[in-house]
Amino acid sequence: MNRFETLLRFGIVASMSIVACFIIQSTGNATPIVADIQIAPAATSTRIRLISSEPFELSAFVLTNPDRLVLEGPAINFQLSPERENPIGPIASYRYGAMSPERSRIIFDLAQPVLPSELTTTPSLNGGAYSISLYLTTADRQSFDRSAQATNTAKLRPPTQSEPSAPSIADSRPLIVIDPGHGGNDLGATGVNGLFEKDVVLAFARALAKKIEAEGLCRVMLTRDQDIFIPLDDRVKFARQHGAAVFLSIHGDTIASNTDVRGATVYIGDDKSSDAEAAKVAEYENKADSNGSIVTAPADTTVADILGDLTLRETRTRSSLLARELVTRIADTAHLNHNPLRAAGFRVLRAFDIPAALIEIGYMSSKPDLDQFSSPEWTDRMTSRIADALNDFLHPSRAEIPAQSPAAQP
Ligand SMILES: [Zn+2]
Repeated sequence: MNRFETLLRFGIVASMSIVACFIIQSTGNATPIVADIQIAPAATSTRIRLISSEPFELSAFVLTNPDRLVLEGPAINFQLSPERENPIGPIASYRYGAMSPERSRIIFDLAQPVLPSELTTTPSLNGGAYSISLYLTTADRQSFDRSAQATNTAKLRPPTQSEPSAPSIADSRPLIVIDPGHGGNDLGATGVNGLFEKDVVLAFARALAKKIEAEGLCRVMLTRDQDIFIPLDDRVKFARQHGAAVFLSIHGDTIASNTDVRGATVYIGDDKSSDAEAAKVAEYENKADSNGSIVTAPADTTVADILGDLTLRETRTRSSLLARELVTRIADTAHLNHNPLRAAGFRVLRAFDIPAALIEIGYMSSKPDLDQFSSPEWTDRMTSRIADALNDFLHPSRAEIPAQSPAAQP
């Protein structure tokens, strides 16, 4: 008797579901070919069906901001018609691809909150293909957010067992890694008042960490909490090793030729710079390693090599959302640069699987900006706004409760 004729069912009560994970035994090492994805919406339950040459291990979980349902499995050979754009039921669109040589994902953008409730696999009647069906049930906002938050806690790692593990006593709040730029031999920019960027950004990062800790929704770590030099790649490694949910680098800009230019700018990493000025800033910040008197190794491409395009696209989307959140929040406190949201190839924003941004909090070459850096009132307001942006980004449901947001106060 074919053991796959046994229907594997894992019913999950939607309200209890944390990271729904489903294991279907695999026949061996053959790479499954997925030839079709069918979506059948219904009033109470939507079915997503994958037509595959092999049964395979599959985990299903949800993410917010934007709302997505993710199916993750082994390397899959997708032989599908072009990616679907037309919305069907709760599915707004979907895309698929490799996360790494070993893992693939299918990502469904959701038009409304749904949670995976049941998965079945069965060989098709005429032999050969397997039909893998995932049932989705409508969820309320709260249950969806709770499930997504549990996913964040699980760090999006593929499950290693068929049951959600017992609640951990470890701190499950998302981790924010704050990276004060420069340090040690690498002074960064020098202000017109003789202050060094490395000291300004360290003081600011410490104040920001305190603010985030006081709000208690996230954990926070600094890549450096002293005046020491840390190579750029090691800052990225630090964030990855600790499983950061967000990486935020803090810097101070400079433009010697024009001391009138001032204001904060938020950058995201991209191979293509948004403009020539952004490219220059990235080039300047990327020189940190040689300023710190170490021989700069070639850029660490290992991470890029082992992760697929899909991861990179997802992370960039999330980084853009984070950057927009930051700009919106600090707009009323910081004097913003004339073009406050930019992209460039910052070496320190190379963690392809962690949403990351770099804030130039102002210009070391601007007297008014330097005055702000040493103002406790400005630092308090600015760090509050950034902490709010980070908390909202990591806890989207919180953003819908204005009463809890200190930013709602003047
Ligand atoms: Zn800098």
